[in-house]
Amino acid sequence: MKLQLHWQILIAMVLGVAVGVVFQVIYDGEPSGWLFALIASLGTIFINLLRMVIVPLIVSSIVSGVASVGDGKSIGRLGLKTFSYYFVSSLLAILIGIFVTNLIKPGVGANIPVGESFDPSTVVTPRSPGQILIDMIPLNPIEAMSSGHMLGIIFFSIFLGFAITRTAERNRETLRQFFDALFDAMMKITNVVISVAPFGVFGLIVATVASAGVSLFITLSLYIGTILTGFLIHLLIVLPLLFYVTTRINPIYHFRAMSAAMVTAFSTCSSNATLPVTMSDVENKAGVSNTISSFVLPMGATVNMNGTALYECAGVIFISQVLGMQLDFSQQFLIVLTALLSAVGAAGIPAAGVVVIFIVTQAIGFTDAQVGLIIGTMLAVDRPIDMFRTTINIFSDSVGAVIVAKSEGETNFYPGMRRAEEPQAA
Ligand code: ASP
Repeated sequence: MKLQLHWQILIAMVLGVAVGVVFQVIYDGEPSGWLFALIASLGTIFINLLRMVIVPLIVSSIVSGVASVGDGKSIGRLGLKTFSYYFVSSLLAILIGIFVTNLIKPGVGANIPVGESFDPSTVVTPRSPGQILIDMIPLNPIEAMSSGHMLGIIFFSIFLGFAITRTAERNRETLRQFFDALFDAMMKITNVVISVAPFGVFGLIVATVASAGVSLFITLSLYIGTILTGFLIHLLIVLPLLFYVTTRINPIYHFRAMSAAMVTAFSTCSSNATLPVTMSDVENKAGVSNTISSFVLPMGATVNMNGTALYECAGVIFISQVLGMQLDFSQQFLIVLTALLSAVGAAGIPAAGVVVIFIVTQAIGFTDAQVGLIIGTMLAVDRPIDMFRTTINIFSDSVGAVIVAKSEGETNFYPGMRRAEEPQAA
């Protein structure tokens, strides 16, 4: 029997860690040589393949999904449910962030090395919340697609899908069939890319482990531990509870269904790059219709980032602890609000969360110069945190897809679970 894909990927990860450690020891954190370059390029090829399919996949999926919802009222209802879920799950994540950092206090007395080279002026100034909304409207949809401007692409695709439902019968059918067919083909490409995931994941993990400097991780272990504790509470307790309470389905099934997407997120650190895999898992293994998944997931990859929201909040409280500053209630409230918005504003790409943390620090009045070095140090150990952040980000999107699907009356979940109980055909 052929080993299931998620086992193949897990084995690739374990091998990746082992090989990565060997490179780390041999090259002392600065790996080079043809063998390393070859292995690392496996990861790059994998990410590039995923990125190749993202734009046509989300355009075709959203257009065909929205066009099949039908009337404007249903689209409005779906939108309301989707955004309510984003809001509730992100808020819960943020509250956990506040809770764990206030409890463990990783920043109090932390010995942050200040020698890290970090120039705050090189950080792109984050966009303001209002600007994020305005930026959603692409001046040129084709340009938005060619530059991978996600929110613009999503905005235009929803609009186009909606417009299709309003066209004459003949045109409506032609366009629906066209986008359905295109989506079908994009999913086929996705499946091929997913099947080579073990090689890609191996390359990515080797590269990550090989270049990790260990000593800084030890210095910052309390900080890393605090954030990971928050992540685990959200991933293993809060989201499964939310899932169970709203769907009455055992969350274990959902974890199992999402395994390929979760390990892809973990190794790529990018919600966007993981999106094709998330969609494939949610539709093929969790049994959610394309209509719902194409509504909740692409937008979720950019907008709904529970891991990032938790991190923004915990990170800023950590910074104020390092600076020896007590935050009062109104400041903590401001952190909640801006952490929410900055997570919305963060792109689904590696390290985006560290960049937008400036939105939150500025909101409570820190100058970039005061916090720059601390954030630089946080950036130096960010990769493993980003791995978990991204995994939680996409897991939450997938939970939202099932919750919304269930509330819309869909019942055909986890086809694999039922099929497994039937006698296996050869
Ligand atoms: N890497 C994360 C993501 O793609 C964003 C972040 O850095 O928080 O979901």
